[in-house]
Amino acid sequence: MKPIDYQVILEEIHQSIQRQAFAGEVASYIPELAKVNPQKIGIHICDLQGGHYAVGDSNEAFSVQSIVKVLLLVFAITKVDYAEEVIWTRVHVEPSGTPFNSLVQLEYEQGIPRNPFINAGALVVSDIIVRSCQDAKTEFLHFVQSLCSNTRVHYNEAVAQSEKATGFRNRALINLMKSFGNIHNPVDKVLDFYFQACSLMMTCRELAQTFLFLANQGHTYPEQQVIVTKSQSKRINAVMQTCGFYDEAGEFSFRVGLPGKSGVGGGIVAVHPGQYSVAVWSPPLNKKGNSAKGMRALELLTTKTGLSIF
Ligand code: GLU
Repeated sequence: MKPIDYQVILEEIHQSIQRQAFAGEVASYIPELAKVNPQKIGIHICDLQGGHYAVGDSNEAFSVQSIVKVLLLVFAITKVDYAEEVIWTRVHVEPSGTPFNSLVQLEYEQGIPRNPFINAGALVVSDIIVRSCQDAKTEFLHFVQSLCSNTRVHYNEAVAQSEKATGFRNRALINLMKSFGNIHNPVDKVLDFYFQACSLMMTCRELAQTFLFLANQGHTYPEQQVIVTKSQSKRINAVMQTCGFYDEAGEFSFRVGLPGKSGVGGGIVAVHPGQYSVAVWSPPLNKKGNSAKGMRALELLTTKTGLSIF
């Protein structure tokens, strides 16, 4: 089989999505995020042959927002004793079919979030992390920096403060879960860590590099350092596949066919196990809160390469 020329494919995708006008708006419910230039587009692929392929604004850092939920889960798995027993009794692994910040299911499911990639689930994972760290913010930042071999990755204080000042729904979610006994620390301590984690600034290149271990059965590439086991890597990818895009997880799976995770900063990360990891950034979001052009770019990637996990 002829090797795939990812660079040529990325350039075609870039041209195509730059030309197309998609309905979408930059997130503004966190005021600081509304300041981003909506024209930005970047894509970066890292493959398991050591290849790096990139187009556009792939070296510009942006707010990763919910993409961090995957890294929070991974950090909790690596950090906490009996992590999987602790996590999966307090958070489930079913798609929610509801928006990322929905409160509805939590009430009738007694404070147990459907999965770790909706806000409620990530808040429980954050609670678990806060309990097992002396200084969760610093330890988590070092963990992400080591995953992408880059100490420039940092929190954006202005974004974290902006969300802190306006995160009323997250406050409602965490208080509701606290009332059901599923939050063990003071709510402000957990929210503070969660907002800080969501404010992480990373480039497409850094994100693709960070997520490459999930394409490599839980081992970093090229160092082959074990981050999670093969089975844990499979599970994390499975939850991304079914729950990574809120109430658009089915649509992403249908159109793209890869495990992935989006964030309201306009980023999407996807993983092709055994092949590559890819990160895309385009800030305008569709009605479900996912990057409109980012979804299209990844759809074109699996169409043009003729490869997905299915
Ligand atoms: N920090 C955001 C929030 O909690 C993340 C949402 C997202 O990226 O989907 O609302």
